[in-house]
Amino acid sequence: MKMQARAALVRVTELLGEAAVRRDSATLAMYGADMTENAPGQPDAVLLVSNLEQLTAVVGLAGAAGIALTPRVAGTNLGGLTIPSRGGWVLDLTAMNRIVKLDLDDMVAVIEPGVTFQQLKDELDRHPRKLTIGFPLSPPDTSVMANCLLDGLGNLSLRHGVMGEWINGLEVVRADGSLLRTGSWALGVPPFARAPLPDLTGLFVSMQGSTGLVSKLAVQLWPSPNLRERSFAFFADLAGAMRAIRELPGLDVLDDCGALTWPTGKMLLGVAHPRERDPAEPEVFLYLDVGAHDRELLRAKQATLRRYFAGLRADGVKVEDPIDIPTLVRLDPRLGKFAEFPTRLDFLLDHPDGGLTWVGTYGPMSQFRDGAARGTALMVEHGFAPTIVARPMKGGHFGVLRFIEVFERKSDAARAQVLALNQKLADMALELGFVMYKTPGWAVARYQRKLDPGFKRLLGEVTGLLDPGGMMNPGRWGLG
Ligand SMILES: Cc1cc2nc3c(=O)[nH]c(=O)nc-3n(C[C@H](O)[C@H](O)[C@H](O)COP(=O)(O)OP(=O)(O)OC[C@H]3O[C@@H](n4cnc5c(N)ncnc54)[C@H](O)[C@@H]3O)c2cc1C
Repeated sequence: MKMQARAALVRVTELLGEAAVRRDSATLAMYGADMTENAPGQPDAVLLVSNLEQLTAVVGLAGAAGIALTPRVAGTNLGGLTIPSRGGWVLDLTAMNRIVKLDLDDMVAVIEPGVTFQQLKDELDRHPRKLTIGFPLSPPDTSVMANCLLDGLGNLSLRHGVMGEWINGLEVVRADGSLLRTGSWALGVPPFARAPLPDLTGLFVSMQGSTGLVSKLAVQLWPSPNLRERSFAFFADLAGAMRAIRELPGLDVLDDCGALTWPTGKMLLGVAHPRERDPAEPEVFLYLDVGAHDRELLRAKQATLRRYFAGLRADGVKVEDPIDIPTLVRLDPRLGKFAEFPTRLDFLLDHPDGGLTWVGTYGPMSQFRDGAARGTALMVEHGFAPTIVARPMKGGHFGVLRFIEVFERKSDAARAQVLALNQKLADMALELGFVMYKTPGWAVARYQRKLDPGFKRLLGEVTGLLDPGGMMNPGRWGLG
């Protein structure tokens, strides 16, 4: 017989202590929502979980009482993925923040869910051997593990692809409270790679917590170049910039590269609602990161870049040579923001309207120009600034194209307007071959109609096997 939810709450309070079980309305409301257009949910309790023992016990109790579980760290995924769709308990894993092992020789960090990008960077910076993790544009207090599990991207993604590929192995708490380890870890040796064992890690990647709760992640680190320089290139039009981000990976001189359209620049300079572009302003700016072991190599890479830009101009593209950060900062000190590393997009995060969302997609570079043009046209049609951020990934095999909107978070009408636009953007993008990452529930529902039947059946069987009670973050890819 199932344990009553009330009895489970009493037991969990004994286990975690009163202070770690939150049921006041302000906390429930905060954890029941995020900054996107996704409808809020209503958790029954928020549990602050501090260690693996507590985590396995909580999963066991929830399983016995049929209580839904939503794992969360900072809740900034921008897909509504930590909004509990069926009530239950939100597990705040922020306090599970140990860097369990830093293996500088084999370039692997073993970390818990609450370890943040800033925390891992600070720890890595303390060591003489300069290693780094790829940094997203997300706030520094977000979870490294969450971004890896979500197949997110960072500044090393041009070279190394999505962050899901950087995972060497996982320790997972299954829905029945048992533990498993994946990758080479499964044989009791250090987690040096996922190969050559059967790759069970994938069962937990891009699943948004619907197949198990990850308690440890072994993630790859890379050598940090001795020298790194960022410069900016300003393009008069979108088509020229989209051509450049498609071609630049082929030069093999960049560590990272990204295109931002004019409203991003205006917001950075304090314009909350950019409406019109001044015709003299560039439509797109591209940041270009070059890293090298020594100055000679750095200069050689920069010379290659200048030759490429000269070639673009000879071809009629309206673009000047890249400008370095010191020159840019002399033009306007506020632009120094883009020199910071990792870069923080706080002008989006702290926007006065409070709402932030995007249709973030991965797709073929060959379709970037059309995708960007059609998407920005849709945004303008719906009364939004044509804000996009695009980057090539994995040596140019594919890229990320994001359509970003800020909106009045407290207004139901604004949320409905954003949702309608996002659905159109997602449909347009899919037509061109772009798939949403960190896929929100509304997009999963749309994709369901298009999914290959064999894929859909196997996905149902896998999630049914791993989560027979449908209690793990229901409403996601688990489809419960
Ligand atoms: C301004 C801004 C810029 C951003 N830029 C980027 C960017 O450049 N690249 C990028 O990839 N992302 C970006 N993001 C998105 C987001 O910040 C990242 O995905 C971030 O790493 C998520 O961390 P989090 O702590 O907020 O995770 P959360 O939102 O708390 O969780 C994310 C998901 O992981 C699940 N989860 C959490 N812990 C576990 C666990 N232990 N086991 C299983 N599942 C778990 C949650 O249920 C949820 O589905 C950006 C966001 C903002 C607001």
